[in-house]
Amino acid sequence: MTRKTLPRPLLDQWEWQDRASCRDVDPAVFFSPQNERGPARSLREERAMAICRNCPVREPCAAFAAATKEAYGVWGGQTESRRRPRAR
Ligand code: SF4
Repeated sequence: MTRKTLPRPLLDQWEWQDRASCRDVDPAVFFSPQNERGPARSLREERAMAICRNCPVREPCAAFAAATKEAYGVWGGQTESRRRPRAR
């Protein structure tokens, strides 16, 4: 097997998370509890996006969420509804 056919080391794919602004933040800020709606949801998402705003790894985080089609949570300053493709 040549080196080109080997998968990338898993650590390379997650290394950016070491510098994440959300690293020590309660994940509940980024992921909605069941049945969360309206103003409660908006406030939580705004709080998460404020943390993302100055995060040094915002770009790789958003790219990761897009590449993995992450369905839940705020990633890279984008809410799940913002990442979702719009119906035509
Ligand atoms: S962009 Fe937001 S969700 Fe992504 S690592 Fe930074 S703080 Fe966390």
